[in-house]
Amino acid sequence: MHVLRDVLEQSQKNGLAIGHFNIADMVLLKAVFASAQELKVPVLVGASEGEREFMGVRQLAALVRSLQEEFDFPIFLNADHTHSLVKAVDAAKAGFDTIVFDASALPFEQNVRQTREAVETLKSINPAILVEGEIGDIGTGSEIHEEAPDLEKGLTTPVEAKQYVESTGIDILAPAVGNMHGMLKSMVQGETRKRLDIARIAQIKSATRVLLTLHGGSGTDDEDLRKAIAAGINIVHINTELRVAWRHGLEDALVKRPDEVVPYKILPFAVESVKQVARSRLRLFNGAK
Ligand SMILES: [Zn+2]
Repeated sequence: MHVLRDVLEQSQKNGLAIGHFNIADMVLLKAVFASAQELKVPVLVGASEGEREFMGVRQLAALVRSLQEEFDFPIFLNADHTHSLVKAVDAAKAGFDTIVFDASALPFEQNVRQTREAVETLKSINPAILVEGEIGDIGTGSEIHEEAPDLEKGLTTPVEAKQYVESTGIDILAPAVGNMHGMLKSMVQGETRKRLDIARIAQIKSATRVLLTLHGGSGTDDEDLRKAIAAGINIVHINTELRVAWRHGLEDALVKRPDEVVPYKILPFAVESVKQVARSRLRLFNGAK
């Protein structure tokens, strides 16, 4: 039986981070699991409210649990960006290992109040569950955006991070440190990269001493990711890069096999395309140069 908290603490001791990849279907789950299995590294799969609605909360939990059990493998499941306590409770009852309770759009005091309530309720369902809270603004939508949002004003400060962690009792904090959900077109084309505020990450880590998640990791400069992990990031979220690879793999299959109708002959192209991204990100998070 693998325990997420232990796996995260061990990985922190080793100076590594756990890759978190969003899944919305079996193609993404197969690709992420196969990549982690090949590299023999723990992995988190996550599903947002929309992704959970598509796959089914309990169905998703059953799939991930079946992989963990059959292969005795440290694969864990996260309820990503959960905006209501009702949906958070559904995920906790279904057996998710961790929940991102996201009230970051609310004013600070309300965010604190709602997150503290979520921590108490979720831990009463499963005392081992890890609850992640979020402050600051990193934009919304793991999609391709036309324009970059203005993230300057929404950056997390070490003082508010400390206050937020202490008054909510969260296990994991998701700060805004230059990261952003989604990618710009220029990032998909590889012309630009996201850059992170490494000093801010180090200051937040030393002020809070909690586990830290970097959301919106797609399209981030590799060296910045390495430095962010060294500065205290424990989990890195990648979604849009996988979605882009999923679509490209599928398009490729439909072009190469125009008359094919057998799903298990078409979809492996998408699995392979997603695997290439997941494998390369997992290598980086796990210390490969
Ligand atoms: Zn996110």
